[in-house]
Amino acid sequence: MTPVLQVSHLTKSFGGIQAVDDVSLEVRQGEILGLIGPNGSGKSTLFNCILGQLQATAGEIRLDGEPIVGLRPSDLSRRGVGRTFQLLQVFPQLTVVENLIVAGQEHVGSMWSRLVGRRDCGLTDRARQMVDFFLLSHVAQEYAGNLSYGQQKLLDAAMAFMAEPRLVLLDEPAGGVNLTMLAGLRERLIAINARENVSFVVIEHNMEFVMGLCTRILVLAEGRIIAEGTPDQVRRDPRVIEAYLGH
Ligand code: ADP
Ligand code: MG
Repeated sequence: MTPVLQVSHLTKSFGGIQAVDDVSLEVRQGEILGLIGPNGSGKSTLFNCILGQLQATAGEIRLDGEPIVGLRPSDLSRRGVGRTFQLLQVFPQLTVVENLIVAGQEHVGSMWSRLVGRRDCGLTDRARQMVDFFLLSHVAQEYAGNLSYGQQKLLDAAMAFMAEPRLVLLDEPAGGVNLTMLAGLRERLIAINARENVSFVVIEHNMEFVMGLCTRILVLAEGRIIAEGTPDQVRRDPRVIEAYLGH
């Protein structure tokens, strides 16, 4: 079966720094792939290249076997790629439901014109589904700015699923989320992965979270993949331990 995502020999330099250095990886259909590594190892840069937010210096990226280098973020969204951001990207002055609708509209055109023009395209139904699914029904009409940080992270995750993507890239979905909400977030991500057969790539620093969520993990250090395996294999890998302790 063709992998959902294939990255081949991807390199991204900033001046003299090779932030991503000859990285190749595959994401299989329905897989939850973890991407870990010390700060500055190139994880977010890799995501931004895949998502068309940064132009790769070299290398190839394929979605369902088709080259996607050079496509804009909005093109990728239309082709079924969703994302969450390392820093929250919710609109504090919009309600939870409005945030979801805006996220769903982003892949069909200018969000504000759609919002003002009230063209719905089934987005309200989908927003209601996502509100329920991500345990936000009781705050559906609250302004996002009034939610707790953990609830905002749940909303941020829910927004990535509005356009019914086949691949979602999550950048530190658990960052700053307290223990009580963490279990719920992980459980919801596992549930939506199974229900909608969507593949994930998850960047995360919380090892317990990532080990409990992912079936396979890649480890980046200084822009290169230094290890790959199941959570147990990666946890015991001396190269991984060294990469973390060496920093
Ligand atoms: P991570 O997400 O793993 O913490 P990043 O991808 O953010 O790492 O950063 C990888 C390296 O690239 C770091 O050395 C960082 O300073 C550098 N870098 C990231 N973005 C830029 C940029 N826009 N301009 C210059 N250097 C950058
Ligand atoms: Mg990062």
